[in-house]
Amino acid sequence: MNLSLVIPVYNEQENLPFLFDAIYQAVSPLNLKWEAIFVNDGSRDQSLAGLTEQALRDPEHIRVVSFRRNFGQTAAIAAGIDHSRGEIIVLLDADMQNDPADIKMLLDKLDEGYDLVSGWRKNRKDNAVTRNFPSMVANSLISYVTGVKLHDYGCTLKAYRRDVLEGFRLYGEMHRFIPVYASSVGAKITEVAVNHHPRKFGKTKYGLERTVKVILDLFTVKFLVSYGSKPIYVFGGTGMLLIIASVLLLAYLIVRRIFFMVGILSSPFFQIGVMFFILGFQSVLMGLIAELLARTYHESQKKTIYIVHKRIGFPPENS
Ligand code: UDP
Ligand code: MG
Repeated sequence: MNLSLVIPVYNEQENLPFLFDAIYQAVSPLNLKWEAIFVNDGSRDQSLAGLTEQALRDPEHIRVVSFRRNFGQTAAIAAGIDHSRGEIIVLLDADMQNDPADIKMLLDKLDEGYDLVSGWRKNRKDNAVTRNFPSMVANSLISYVTGVKLHDYGCTLKAYRRDVLEGFRLYGEMHRFIPVYASSVGAKITEVAVNHHPRKFGKTKYGLERTVKVILDLFTVKFLVSYGSKPIYVFGGTGMLLIIASVLLLAYLIVRRIFFMVGILSSPFFQIGVMFFILGFQSVLMGLIAELLARTYHESQKKTIYIVHKRIGFPPENS
């Protein structure tokens, strides 16, 4: 299998027929062995029926994984990746805002030797105030904090070599941070401008509140990528700084007491110094707990973040 398309679907019934057409038009001429894994993320409309019908009509190419309830886009993407077999994985939205015709361009870029090609919605057709502007800020922030400079983390349409996707699990809203992880394992990353269309049917599942989640996720990702296996460096480092500050403060008070006869206990620096010391000590201890957790995390069995309800089009031993 050369190519797997992974497509999260949540209440997209009107878009599906157009999506199928566009996918066949885009992928058939490429002469690849390909599959499209659709993940029904607990849709309440007729999406599952539409997907099932297509999977039965074209079992060679179409597979469906269905959740019993809505687990979120990231979980859907993770499930799709887990059920895919291609050496190359292309993620795509189901709402026809991404253009399957761009897939060829992404694959050509991969052929140039990249491991990850990120789509960039250069001409994005979403609400300027609630979506495009916050997204611009978030992209600059993520690029700055992680050092992986991309214009459009939020664009689902990206192509990945399978090996850069292995070895980490996705949580929260984190599918957008795959490039950061990939870069941390040494992937070669580039971006290309892709088409973007306004939504014709159905409505967006997100608003301004997602920006908050993305920024919180950024903390986690930065921490995990930089210190996930050595948390004591963050906690212990902070703790040592606080302890050094407290020692300096207390030394200053003692010197002042000896040479200038100023009382130690009457100074607010005394309380601050003691507080710094306690905080610093605690922080070092927390670092040790974090080290224990990191070991449990890395060594324990991998668990999925989703529960698959049904699989359609898979060989019997999997169902
Ligand atoms: N989606 C999903 N589960 C969710 C929310 C969204 O599978 O809980 C899918 C949705 O069907 C679409 C893609 O994720 O295929 C992107 O969603 P949407 O178009 O709402 O996001 P936007 O383009 O507005 O950022
Ligand atoms: Mg969309």
